[in-house]
Amino acid sequence: MIRALVAAVAATLVAAAPAPAVTADRHTPVPVLLYHHVSTAPRDADSPALYVPARLFARQMAALDRAGYTPVTLGRAWRHWQSGAPLPAKPVVLSFDDGFADQYRTAARTLRARGWPGVLNLQVGRLDEEGGLTEAQVRRLLRDGWELGAHSMSHADLTTVGAEQLESEVTGSREQLERTFGVPVDFFCYPYGRFDAAVKAAVRAAGFLGATTTRRGAASPADGAYTLDRLVVTGNYSPARLLRTVRAPSARR
Ligand SMILES: [Zn+2]
Repeated sequence: MIRALVAAVAATLVAAAPAPAVTADRHTPVPVLLYHHVSTAPRDADSPALYVPARLFARQMAALDRAGYTPVTLGRAWRHWQSGAPLPAKPVVLSFDDGFADQYRTAARTLRARGWPGVLNLQVGRLDEEGGLTEAQVRRLLRDGWELGAHSMSHADLTTVGAEQLESEVTGSREQLERTFGVPVDFFCYPYGRFDAAVKAAVRAAGFLGATTTRRGAASPADGAYTLDRLVVTGNYSPARLLRTVRAPSARR
């Protein structure tokens, strides 16, 4: 009797369940693009390649859209990997490191016009500093649907610091961002992409669900949630090159 009831309820649930966006299994790798500055490089820039001019960025986003890509947060990708939550057919994550003012002025505008989320990997020490994002700007990004990730306090190479600093850079940045902005901060981003076993352990112990590197490739749970690969986008990426990269993330180009 109970068994019949359970079967009936299950049948109803199955019938009522909306069709998933895709039928792919829950191990779909997701390309995670990594942007730094989204503006024209000043003449004295240390790393001019890390500047993607705003107009090029807009053309890159238009190309992703035309090719059918849908930006998602890392949290959404993670929920897919964990429990099979549906993902769009061609997911991509747009991550922005450090917290530069131009990410708000230019990138956020372009994404807002499309209703697309970004992922902000914010270095706490840069908040409200010259050239950095203000607290109000970060709040606006969150209202736009952006996800907030922690990128340490001081942007130190965490493989070179003592245990006490490691703890404050990792746990401290998560706590401070969650307290300041009132949102969960579930992902860590290694400064300079540098990590070792101790850094990974600290990130896990701080309660993060995963962490992103600068190692080249698509993020995949098969590599472990604490070493998610990304794809650095520079000012040399034409829209066509960007599409080639998201389609074949592991290929050298
Ligand atoms: Zn950084």
